[in-house]
Amino acid sequence: MSFEPVIGLEVHAQLLTETKIFCGCSTAFGAPPNSQVCPVCLGLPGALPVLNERAVEHAVRTAVALECTVHRASIFARKNYFYPDLPKGYQISQYEEPLATDGHVEYFDDGAARRVRIMRVHMEEDAGKSIHDGFPDSGGKTYLDFNRSGVPLAEIVTQPDLRAPSEAARFFQRLRRILLAAGVNDGNMEEGSLRCDANVSVRPRGAEALGVKVEIKNLNSFRFLERALDYEVGRQSALLERGGTVVQETRLWDVAGGRTVSMRSKEEAHDYRYFPDPDLPPLVLDSDWVASVREGLPELPEARKQRLMADHGLPERDAALLADDPDLSSFFEAAAAAAGNARAAANWIMGAVAHRMKTLGVGIAAAKVTPASLGALIRLVDGGTISNSVARDVFEKMAATGRPPEAIVEAEGLSQIGDAEELGAAVRKALSENPAAVGKYRTGKTGALGFLVGQVMRATRGQANPRVVNELLKEALETGEE
Ligand code: ADP
Ligand code: ZN
Ligand code: MG
Repeated sequence: MSFEPVIGLEVHAQLLTETKIFCGCSTAFGAPPNSQVCPVCLGLPGALPVLNERAVEHAVRTAVALECTVHRASIFARKNYFYPDLPKGYQISQYEEPLATDGHVEYFDDGAARRVRIMRVHMEEDAGKSIHDGFPDSGGKTYLDFNRSGVPLAEIVTQPDLRAPSEAARFFQRLRRILLAAGVNDGNMEEGSLRCDANVSVRPRGAEALGVKVEIKNLNSFRFLERALDYEVGRQSALLERGGTVVQETRLWDVAGGRTVSMRSKEEAHDYRYFPDPDLPPLVLDSDWVASVREGLPELPEARKQRLMADHGLPERDAALLADDPDLSSFFEAAAAAAGNARAAANWIMGAVAHRMKTLGVGIAAAKVTPASLGALIRLVDGGTISNSVARDVFEKMAATGRPPEAIVEAEGLSQIGDAEELGAAVRKALSENPAAVGKYRTGKTGALGFLVGQVMRATRGQANPRVVNELLKEALETGEE
């Protein structure tokens, strides 16, 4: 029997704020353990939480970026459980009355239009961190760092609309791009700013009813998400195949073992005894304010992609690639304007520029090539001053030195040779040194022409105008002059 995976994600995104959600402690990553704590985020008796307006703003931005309905009033509840990294004994989270519900993400994946519904977006505080190794007594002790305790999070819950592990991973990538573009999250998964729990079940292909789901906790990379889901889909399918049943439980991804392991079953599930936090009044949002947050939202990747396609005639694939990165898109648009040739600008950026950024491991903002200089380079090619192959060398020099292309072409005498007189000698030489290719051409194997063009290009260090070389060679071959 063939089984269909059904997947829903619960994503935790740290909201970009300077200070924590209910106190003034810094949220900066990497500080010495327990250096960013106070009575509120340590859960000391009598300390009162005060809601951070910036966190609310970013949570609302998140919700509107995901096309959710933002509720006029939402309620902070206490989610009670005991854990060493949770000093209060409860986590403040929105439960029954969340900030926002009923959104969606629409995007293209694998050439097809997709829509993943968003169940809810709510605000909550992060817990501290248990550290199990790296300290002198780690053998017998767990260390606790409360710097994360009280960091503001948006929890984003999708409907079970994803149908394959790879699709889930790509959706998560999409979501990351949206959050980055909205300016609410830094997308840094290694630092834990963005992580997800994956819910997965399988059902016989064609069946309507959902299978029993398993939740895989705390996946902090796209690869782990996909691998954990792959493993789990395989495990559940095999179980059902054998006539077994899947039990509802929470599992963990064992990176080293490449498998998921059971953490707790439904019977062991916590009873969180949620109740409204008596120290925090309902969060009531002014609808004009919500509207202004929506207005202030920058262009998001999907909209930008559509615009790049419409304004610059880019194919969807290219537009999607550029649109994913706001810096890259702005660079592209400026370069396209400077070049007067959007296709060429896109090709350069996705080719040589992207390659260079990748090898240097830097963003486009750090590149020595500017939109203006790339535009100038493209103009030199389009105007026939230099050939494409010379342009590639000039680009490398621009990227290494930051000098403008005109100066490099000028200083190194790289201007294209398009003059028939000047090229005559090289053309004659190519013909006389390659009688075999000449013979082939004359017996109808016109592909030999390319080889001869290549010889002339090489002899002129790429400076010959290939179109002129082509014409000269053809003329000579067809008239029999050599
Ligand atoms: P719970 O009651 O266990 O909290 P929810 O309905 O709130 O479940 O959903 C939690 C997450 O699990 C959501 O992301 C949702 O899409 C996903 N989910 C729910 N049911 C299933 C299922 N049968 N298979 C896969 N994912 C599911
Ligand atoms: Zn604090
Ligand atoms: Mg639920």
